[in-house]
Amino acid sequence: MTSAPRPPISEPDPSTFTCSGGLVGPCCGCQRKTHKYGSGGLPLCQWCMTPVQEGWGSTVRFTSTRPKVL
Ligand SMILES: [Zn+2]
Repeated sequence: MTSAPRPPISEPDPSTFTCSGGLVGPCCGCQRKTHKYGSGGLPLCQWCMTPVQEGWGSTVRFTSTRPKVL
């Protein structure tokens, strides 16, 4: 498998371009700016998250942490 080269940590995660600046925080892995807080936020940037998700397999998702109330 090949993956896109990881840019220097001075480059923010692309997710920061589509979220409010108030939701941006440092990646837990590399301290890169990433969309960390709020809906859709992750504690890791996409470059740190990808190998973690591969380790989890396809059954674990971040779709929602809220309980479903019907
Ligand atoms: Zn990172």
